[in-house]
Amino acid sequence: MTDTPEPEKTQKEMFEALKKMLDQGLAFKMPQTEKAEEEKEPESPSHRDKQLHFDLKPKEVKKHLDRFVIKQEDAKRVLATAVCDHYNHVRLSREPEKAASYIYSKQNVLILGPTGVGKTHLVRHLAELIGVPFIKADATKFSETGYAGGDVEDLIRDLVEKAGGDIELAQYGIVYLDEIDKIAIPSETFGRDVSGSGVQRGLLKIMEETDVPLRNPQDIQSQLQSMMDLQRKGRVEKPMINTKHILFIVSGSFDGIVPVIEKRLKASEIGFNPAVNEPLSTANVLRMAKTDDFKKFGFESEFIGRLPVRVVCDPLNEEDLYQILGSSEDSVLKQHIASFQAYGIELQPEDSGLWEIAKEAAKEKTGARGLFSVCERIFRGFKYELPSSQIRTFQLSSEMVKAPEDYLRKLLAAEHAGQRAQFIEEIHAFENRFKEKTGFEIHFNDPAREYLLEKLWKEGAEPTSFLEQLLSNYAYGLRLIQQKAPRDQFILPVETVDNPNSLLDQWIKEAYEQNQG
Ligand code: ADP
Repeated sequence: MTDTPEPEKTQKEMFEALKKMLDQGLAFKMPQTEKAEEEKEPESPSHRDKQLHFDLKPKEVKKHLDRFVIKQEDAKRVLATAVCDHYNHVRLSREPEKAASYIYSKQNVLILGPTGVGKTHLVRHLAELIGVPFIKADATKFSETGYAGGDVEDLIRDLVEKAGGDIELAQYGIVYLDEIDKIAIPSETFGRDVSGSGVQRGLLKIMEETDVPLRNPQDIQSQLQSMMDLQRKGRVEKPMINTKHILFIVSGSFDGIVPVIEKRLKASEIGFNPAVNEPLSTANVLRMAKTDDFKKFGFESEFIGRLPVRVVCDPLNEEDLYQILGSSEDSVLKQHIASFQAYGIELQPEDSGLWEIAKEAAKEKTGARGLFSVCERIFRGFKYELPSSQIRTFQLSSEMVKAPEDYLRKLLAAEHAGQRAQFIEEIHAFENRFKEKTGFEIHFNDPAREYLLEKLWKEGAEPTSFLEQLLSNYAYGLRLIQQKAPRDQFILPVETVDNPNSLLDQWIKEAYEQNQG
């Protein structure tokens, strides 16, 4: 009889192996929600309190945003108001007697505006202030993979992960989707390309209210988790997250909607600013967008209908970039200042330097992102060289921004010159001390001194201890010479620097020969 494996035993072994793998974190972290009932930790009061006690007013929220986000006054005001409405509603909805008394439609937000002007920055700071998890994704991710409702639901699962597995907290989180204009389907293609509208429908479902399974049905690991549940508890848990209170903020540059709006405006002769006799700016055209324009542009009416709060972010000009550098609390310049500080180096910004960076960054036409690339480029060499130098302060001037490499070279040369003068002084002091102690005058000739300076510089050596070591036999050697052929002054040539003792030996030999002769 062959040994047929017992099914229970095999199953047990398999689960043990899986459990080990999961416990070691090889596959994925077990979300808190996966814990057995009896293992559940008490609710985190910090988070929960924030939800229950949300009591900020729009002006307070705006004031907070002002610390980090320059310009975008409309967006800050509108977002602050929408977010207060939303989280007040969330708070009230937790008090059933009040919640039942009114109907609330979620204040999902649509932000129109070019890249790098602070849209993500705004949303991130809002989420941080309120204390809710926040995730950002590009809507293109969904159209690229074709219609996949499951993918859209991944946004919600990501939010739970961001909340450290705290489903309740994730239910009040913020989902931020950029490039939303890329999932529009121009009306002439309606019906043909279903991928975009499929994504719109998928998003619509989660933007309204739905229960999203925490375990992706397509995901093998989630299925293994279910099997483990079955093994451990005799039932499969199906944790869900409800999307009713999740705030959706979507954005895009919406370049393509501009002609749609302009066409409508032209028909009614609005699209012209008669006062200055010139066409409206893109941002101002976008400000005039109406629901119908969005529909013509390719959004289904239910979808655009779920985005009642619409606001435009303006492009950033040179002056705005200057303000961002100098005034925003978390500007990229402050990050660079801090990284120099870590080496004890003080970077001193000058106004002219800030203007020059802003000017350079504006040329890149990527909004404030240009500031990041310009700063990285100008500070690159300084970050490499200065920590190993003696330089502990330097100026961010317009000269430095215009030609950072030249500026750095000059700075290092000046340091070199300063150090040279100091080293010469120390060599001189050594020679004097030697005379005081031994009565002999030693003196490096000019080429020897230059060579010595170069060697000290290259080796990063300290002159006094280097010379003491180098000429350690000289006091005794010179005394021997003195006894045979009296002499007070000794000139040290270049060779001494590399090979001090061979010259000394030679001098002693000569003195003895001279003495015998
Ligand atoms: P986007 O509009 O494409 O979402 P981001 O918000 O990601 O742009 O901007 C990139 C970075 O540039 C931000 O992290 C922030 O450091 C800086 N930035 C952009 N706009 C502003 C602004 N208006 N005020 C302050 N910083 C900004």
